[in-house]
Amino acid sequence: MSGHPFLLVLSAPSGGGKTTIARELLRSRTDLGYSVSCTTRAPRVGEVDGVDYHFVSPEAFEARVASGAFAEWAEVHGRRYGTLRSEVERVLSSGRHVLLDIDVQGARQVVAAFPEAVTVFIVPPSVEILVSRLQGRQSESTEAFQVRLRNARHELRDAERYQYLVENDELAHAVRRVGEIIESEELRRERLPVLGQKVEAVIARLVDGLERAVPAPT
Ligand code: 5GP
Repeated sequence: MSGHPFLLVLSAPSGGGKTTIARELLRSRTDLGYSVSCTTRAPRVGEVDGVDYHFVSPEAFEARVASGAFAEWAEVHGRRYGTLRSEVERVLSSGRHVLLDIDVQGARQVVAAFPEAVTVFIVPPSVEILVSRLQGRQSESTEAFQVRLRNARHELRDAERYQYLVENDELAHAVRRVGEIIESEELRRERLPVLGQKVEAVIARLVDGLERAVPAPT
């Protein structure tokens, strides 16, 4: 349980390895909960509805847009993806930070709506690794691969908008780095109102003590 839970946005170009980092963070930390997004894309082999995504039809997605159910949504690689407000609320109300694995367009919307959100951009260690990871997705056509490659270029340009950059050179290393970001962010003054009050109380006591120590003028 965290005293002051916040939104943690993880973005990366496709093939940047952020989903693996997200999974490992969720496995190893109890203070994080995952916001399960809605998407109109088809499930990949091994993906479970309600766990990896809520897989919905374009019509069902549109209905949620119209009803204002999304905190943010965007079209990525020709499919729609969105963060449900209810998912963010569910995790926050359990006292955990909310992990959002979303694209750069979504991240912009989240920062506008939740200015206290923490944003991390996962940087691929090299072009070769990025391309080979993109090619590794057997489930996709050459055309889909080309789209992802083009988008990766645009997405990388957005890295400068993020508060933190983490190079995904080695999984354990990247996971540790994101963990360190979480721990540092928990110590931000704005997230520690109780400690702030303690400081005020100490100041008040010191002032009291000083006034008592100095004899009043006769
Ligand atoms: P994939 O189809 O590979 O699971 O995801 C494609 C891209 O969509 C990734 O960059 C992923 O982070 C992003 N994405 C997943 N869920 C959401 C979401 O709810 N909102 C936005 N804006 N992007 C998302």
